[in-house]
Amino acid sequence: MIDADPAALARIRFVLVETTHPGNIGAVARGMKTMGLSRLELVRPRHFPNAEALALASGADDLLAAAPVREELTSALAGCRLVVGSSARLRSVAWPLLSPAQCAERLLAEAAVGEVALVLGRESSGLSNAELARCQYLVNIPTDPGFSSLNLAAAAQVFAYEIRRAWLAGGAAQPAEGPRELATAEAMEGFYDHLAQALVDLGYSDPEQSRKLMRRLRRLFHRAQPDRVELNILRGILSAAQGRKTADRFRKEGPRMTPTRSEGSD
Ligand code: SAH
Repeated sequence: MIDADPAALARIRFVLVETTHPGNIGAVARGMKTMGLSRLELVRPRHFPNAEALALASGADDLLAAAPVREELTSALAGCRLVVGSSARLRSVAWPLLSPAQCAERLLAEAAVGEVALVLGRESSGLSNAELARCQYLVNIPTDPGFSSLNLAAAAQVFAYEIRRAWLAGGAAQPAEGPRELATAEAMEGFYDHLAQALVDLGYSDPEQSRKLMRRLRRLFHRAQPDRVELNILRGILSAAQGRKTADRFRKEGPRMTPTRSEGSD
């Protein structure tokens, strides 16, 4: 058995998106600290810093003091090789789904070599589909189907406990595929923007109707877990395809008549 490595716990961040009740932020900090977790990130919290947050942190004020407040989810996920989103509901486009125990194992395995994040949503409406699409996996705490939504801090406690249990049981397992330098969350976002633009440029998709298509493509590339070099190759291919489209257009509009380009000839 590998010794549990405290550095792995320090690479796991909990990201809270648009939390309404500051008391919940404090309660999440407390729940994390009891399980040896220390990295909290806040995206557009309604009230923060706040006395109620401090009161419910009940001694975990160091986590609150150190918690960056972000304007965008992108910056809260900076540098992450794995992002898991938590959801009380299962969504229309099926996404790879983990149980809390599997989530803990995946997070710890990847945290052995890099930064990872677990994202928790708003009290009122959870995470949006666009936010969930940023995550490689969803995690759901199996609850009574008739009453599935836990309080935010209660859900965070379940996740934190599962992480501690997995950490105590085995230390950080080896990452699923060795220590490859996976593309970071922000590099993946840059790629998806490029891909969406290329699909429009190539006449493959209409931006108005491509949301569902982009979700499916995100799922595909999340599953592939490209590393940095692979992502650069993909972007190079997109750029080349976009460039060729421009060149084709130029040829068509040029002074000499050219044969009509047929589908599949390029
Ligand atoms: N009404 C919201 C629930 C929000 S609860 C909805 O229907 O989506 C606030 C957050 O706690 C959620 O966004 C999620 O991060 C977490 N959470 C609550 N219950 C959960 C569950 N059963 N499984 C996973 N996460 C849960």
